[in-house]
Amino acid sequence: MRLKDKVALITGAARGIGKAIALRFAQEGADIVVADVNQEEAARACAEIEALGRKSLALGMDVTDYAQVEEAINKILDKFGKVDILVNNAGITKDNLLLRMSQMEWDAVIGVNLKGTFNCIKAASRPMLKERSGRIVNIASIIGIIGNAGQANYSASKAGIIALTKTAAKELASRNINVNAVAPGFIQTEMTARLPEELKEKMKQAIPLNKFGSPDDVAAVCLFLVSEDSNYVTGQTIVVDGGMVMA
Ligand code: NDP
Repeated sequence: MRLKDKVALITGAARGIGKAIALRFAQEGADIVVADVNQEEAARACAEIEALGRKSLALGMDVTDYAQVEEAINKILDKFGKVDILVNNAGITKDNLLLRMSQMEWDAVIGVNLKGTFNCIKAASRPMLKERSGRIVNIASIIGIIGNAGQANYSASKAGIIALTKTAAKELASRNINVNAVAPGFIQTEMTARLPEELKEKMKQAIPLNKFGSPDDVAAVCLFLVSEDSNYVTGQTIVVDGGMVMA
């Protein structure tokens, strides 16, 4: 029970990696707020959390809209009185080659992945600053480190998240708020399920551990970053990719 009585807000937690993080944190004793554009699926994830004996709250929230994010934080404070942990996991892709990429494809991905992360850090850090305690984990990607043809918008958003993590870590450190990022490689979720089999096979060959990661592999590292085991870690990006990218 490493997170006993903590309150964790996880964005995009209705499914995939975010849901795995939510369930892992609940197993460790945290109460969970599942914030997602898909409120119905968020409510289903909350039922699973409550089956583990924890409290939960499903919020329909679009991370790109600051007013919605602020309203969500107020609802969490009304119900739980605090926000100990924020995981910025909501993310989308809209792939295209740079020359064909539309303004809409660029803006949408930067909006959800980067501005959404900024919005949530800004709103959630207010109650954390008051408490002089907090943990923030931002889900980046190895694509934000190495780039990828067809993902100008996504790679820029994820590189932005890594830089934002460092700045937020520096600004919030004096109030005992640790901010770190996790950069997953190829993780089996709905986001990656739609890739062609041929491409997936090629990618697997580039992974030294010779297998794709699971959402639970990412959740385990997030748990480390929000637990007391990482008290002296801030501003870092931990790569979870089976060895694809080595510094
Ligand atoms: P999924 O697409 O499976 O889940 C993402 C969730 O975020 C969905 O429930 C989605 O809702 C929600 N969401 C989308 N836009 C918003 C928004 N504006 N506000 C709130 N919620 C939103 O993705 P994954 O679980 O695969 O990915 C999670 C994170 O991990 C993302 O940031 C992704 O970039 C990152 N990542 C994933 C990797 C992978 O291999 N899967 C690799 C590296 C990083 P909806 O149902 O409407 O789509």
